[in-house]
Amino acid sequence: MIQSFDLLTEQVQKLFPEFQSIHFFESSANAAQDGELVMLSLDGEDKLLLLSDSSLFLDAFTGDSRGNCKLCPLSHENRLALNKCLPFTVPTAVGVEGASIGLGDRLGLAGFAHLAALGDYPVKPVLAQQSIRELNFTHRHFEEVIDAAAWAVFKAGWRRGYAADGDHLKKESDIAHAVDLGISMLTLDCSDWLQTLPAKAADLDKVYEELPAAVRLRLEKEYLNDVEAAELGIRIDLPTLKRVAVIYSEAIAFAKKIYRTYLEHADRAIDFEISIDETEEVTGAAAHYFFARELRDDGVSITSMAPRFVGEFQKGIDYMGDLKVFEQDLNRHAMIAEHFGHRLSIHSGSDKFRIFPLVGRATHGKFHLKTAGTSWLEALRVIAEKNPVLFRKLYQCASSNLAEAKSYYVIQTEIDSVPLNDLLEDAQLPALLNHEAARQLLHVTYGFMWADEELKTELFATLKEFRERYDEALVEHIGRHISALLG
Ligand SMILES: [Zn+2]
Repeated sequence: MIQSFDLLTEQVQKLFPEFQSIHFFESSANAAQDGELVMLSLDGEDKLLLLSDSSLFLDAFTGDSRGNCKLCPLSHENRLALNKCLPFTVPTAVGVEGASIGLGDRLGLAGFAHLAALGDYPVKPVLAQQSIRELNFTHRHFEEVIDAAAWAVFKAGWRRGYAADGDHLKKESDIAHAVDLGISMLTLDCSDWLQTLPAKAADLDKVYEELPAAVRLRLEKEYLNDVEAAELGIRIDLPTLKRVAVIYSEAIAFAKKIYRTYLEHADRAIDFEISIDETEEVTGAAAHYFFARELRDDGVSITSMAPRFVGEFQKGIDYMGDLKVFEQDLNRHAMIAEHFGHRLSIHSGSDKFRIFPLVGRATHGKFHLKTAGTSWLEALRVIAEKNPVLFRKLYQCASSNLAEAKSYYVIQTEIDSVPLNDLLEDAQLPALLNHEAARQLLHVTYGFMWADEELKTELFATLKEFRERYDEALVEHIGRHISALLG
């Protein structure tokens, strides 16, 4: 292992005199079979440094070789080579036990601080987690998202495992692609397959009759007077059965097909999460039970289920709704999840501080919680503090694109409820990030900021310059999530 970073600094200075400043991330130092690897920052740019006398080892990476050192960019190819050398940098499945947290990182800059925020809490990070919508808005590929996660894991020397989630995938081609790229978790978004109930109750019979007679016969035999459901306190009568069969049958068939085609015979364990949360229809206990049992009885294993809970889970702000009612709903879902052996998953989990203690308790620490935009908002907080001129420009861009952003994201923000920032002093800008309407505005309009090359360049430059402040803000903010969930 590297004996002295002072000596190594001297060595690197001699071999690469073109760089002025050198800083090693000591937590990244690792010995592989034929050489050593460490991450360092050279004039503000993170790179991988290899030390070895073996050309075979050095040749596995691309970069600039001098002496027994090789300086390598944090590229996709080098990430794949890193994965081969250091298996702990490969994403792995979480399974059905314990807690995990999805830590979406739109910028690809937050992973290192996310890991620091987890501390010693028994929670597995899902570092790579970007929905197709986010990838489109940020012009990133899923490869880059996994790359950023793997480099963060290496930088932090994080050996407790991490996961990569193909998040909210709906299309088979996207699923196939994500599985090829090495995801360790698939979140299947079933929303396109959920049927809406007919407006008139009388029409439900008609839609139900469209299911094949043999299917209806089986369902009625299995679910009416169902002892297993009764033991969970769930009574499924004929109208309830008709409702859940009509709403969920196609989604269940889709989930089975995806499992059989992509997951059942995969060369590695891949967590399978069923997401039925992206809908107006609150998932009742009978629906969760029906979906889970249909899958189990057909030999389909899932690791987690994300129901649509009662109340509002809006982006970047706290839970809206009656906590007592939510707790009852949560307890029922937790009990059903426990019964089938999967974990309960909570989406849009950023900043839902009111419900975190309930989630930890009701699930006995067996849950998955997804956060994403909240780390982006912390980045904007840092920009508000450090570069108010840029923040005002970003804010302006957000305000003028809010109407369009609202067609992609469900939020309540009305343009006139967002305080106009030209009335504010610079020192007041960071406090906008504590304002619900402003948070929602900035949460959903990132795609428009990205689309403006100038804004995007300046945004990254500012965060790079103040990355220690960004890390600190993330450790604080994500740390508050974890301690409320598991404290
Ligand atoms: Zn969701």
